[in-house]
Amino acid sequence: MYTVSLQSLVDELGRLPGIGPKSAQRIAFHLLKVAPEDALRLADAIVSVKEHTTLCPRCFNVAEGDLCSVCSDARRDADVLCVVEDPRDIVSVEKTQEFRGRYHVLHGALNPIEGVGPDQLKVRELLVRLEDEGVSEVILCTNPNLEGEATAMYLARLLKPLNIRVTRIASGLPVGGDLEYADELTLGRALEGRRVLDG
Ligand SMILES: [Zn+2]
Repeated sequence: MYTVSLQSLVDELGRLPGIGPKSAQRIAFHLLKVAPEDALRLADAIVSVKEHTTLCPRCFNVAEGDLCSVCSDARRDADVLCVVEDPRDIVSVEKTQEFRGRYHVLHGALNPIEGVGPDQLKVRELLVRLEDEGVSEVILCTNPNLEGEATAMYLARLLKPLNIRVTRIASGLPVGGDLEYADELTLGRALEGRRVLDG
């Protein structure tokens, strides 16, 4: 029905999260219609993000080059570490303006059914950091769903012998949801109301 190149664009767009076949088709025809420079700007942005984006070697947030913007900011409090599942969660926490510490990105949550265990997450790297950086509090800011809670409990148990204050963001966030869907005020309150988690 389509030309080869158009079909290929529809197929690629359809692979994106949240884009069904109808939307893929609509976007493809939209790109076909717009001025070449407008469509190429999108193509360039995709190429550029793939070429220049790396992971921060310290916290595993997205970065360009060496350390991420949080880790390279000397004003950030090195005492407190906020553990999140995904770099997107850092954006959510930053928006609350309630947190001045640093982050550690696990890149996922425990999910035995999908074969995600501690070794698939940045857990070992977290332990190394805790030893090296003199962290006094770890805030477990994983998602308020099954996997996120299991991950928080696992980490609380793992960190217990280290004599570090381990806290969990307060409930009140939409249960079963992701941090990214929580509004700034709710997430800010959840951070403020964090409680010590006994592993
Ligand atoms: Zn970093």
